[in-house]
Amino acid sequence: MIQLHDKTFEAFIPEQEINFAIQNVAKQIEDDFYDEVPVFIGVLNGAFMFLSDLMKHYSRPCEVSFIKMASYEGTASTNDVKQLIGLNQDLEGRSVVIVEDIVDTGNTVEELKKIFKAQGVKHFRIATLFFKPQAYTKDIKIDYIGIRIPNKFIVGFGLDYDGLGRNLKEVYQLSNTHNKMINI
Ligand code: 5GP
Repeated sequence: MIQLHDKTFEAFIPEQEINFAIQNVAKQIEDDFYDEVPVFIGVLNGAFMFLSDLMKHYSRPCEVSFIKMASYEGTASTNDVKQLIGLNQDLEGRSVVIVEDIVDTGNTVEELKKIFKAQGVKHFRIATLFFKPQAYTKDIKIDYIGIRIPNKFIVGFGLDYDGLGRNLKEVYQLSNTHNKMINI
């Protein structure tokens, strides 16, 4: 159990399972882009750890870049996807792999797809370390998925709760022990 601000989190996904999932994703992308030089675009802040480890396992030529976008405040989705900042590269005709920490409702990937399609990219692919199928509301295909998780709020491995928890090398889930009512 760990405490971040006012909330308690319990151990959920061990480091080894995360590393294994990342190696698998790297292998799949390598196979798909064997004769191309893709541009990996990490979505900050959450994807920094995933992208870093993904690149260690991706042995073919590629480029790496970052953008920033945010849609979350505290533990509830705000539904208002904010604007993208940091894209300063001509991506026309390029194969782009968006690297996300987690896909939840899909609002962020939907917005990203619109932006990158408007840039004239050749291939638009999405890689996410975590995916919540029960929360996903879009038709857009998520091409590379590390680990599918139930609809729970998680922290660690790049994911935060109000700024804390990003540096944890394993993943924790929000514990509801503190919400339990005591029946007398
Ligand atoms: P979406 O737009 O798919 O609803 O949400 C994407 C973003 O919401 C992610 O990039 C991440 O920043 C945040 N998010 C979604 N689920 C979680 C979660 O379980 N934990 C944390 N820390 N952030 C989440």
